[in-house]
Amino acid sequence: MIKQLVLASSNPGKLREFRQLLEPLRVEIIPQSALSIPDADEPHATFVENALAKARHASRLAKLPALADDSGICVQALGGEPGVHSARFAGEPKSDQRNNEKLLQLLAEQDNRLAHYYCVIVLMRHGDDPEPLIAEGAWQGQIIDAPRGSNGFGYDPYFLLPDLGKTAAELEADQKNILSHRGKALRRLLAKMKEGV
Ligand code: IMP
Repeated sequence: MIKQLVLASSNPGKLREFRQLLEPLRVEIIPQSALSIPDADEPHATFVENALAKARHASRLAKLPALADDSGICVQALGGEPGVHSARFAGEPKSDQRNNEKLLQLLAEQDNRLAHYYCVIVLMRHGDDPEPLIAEGAWQGQIIDAPRGSNGFGYDPYFLLPDLGKTAAELEADQKNILSHRGKALRRLLAKMKEGV
């Protein structure tokens, strides 16, 4: 039974969502920053490799089980970019505003606005866990030109859910967690934990 879990992220938007999603577990959630653990490098070309690297890094340094996600937005007309580069799409330092500006510039002449968020979550029970639990989730939407809403983070104000007629930033936190790539991935991961996979 896991009693304490390190969250291998320093993104405040993600940490907020994880805290809400993990509430029913009654596990003590410790952000890695509280243990002075720096962000891991994310050099890989796939989300799953980056998520594994982050979880391993946090778990080894904290000597505790660690949960990490790697996520991003994949835009069809851009061949899946920014994808794993979503956080730093417009370079260093990380900036949601500059990332969104760059995205809209690249899509200026584009009719195809299809995009999806994608998330991989990894749980490593210890730093050398050879059987990490891994789960994925995706969320389909479209990129719009003018921002709407002030909830969420990152690309949310530009990510329209056509069925709802709302952007992700116009959803309440609970509603986003039900629908989102991160919510789906985490519920799948929790199911695997319950099954004892
Ligand atoms: P990571 O921390 O390397 O996984 O980077 C994830 C990046 O993808 C974030 O910094 C955002 O730019 C983007 N992203 C991932 N999930 C979301 C989301 O739920 N809303 C908005 N942007 C997201």
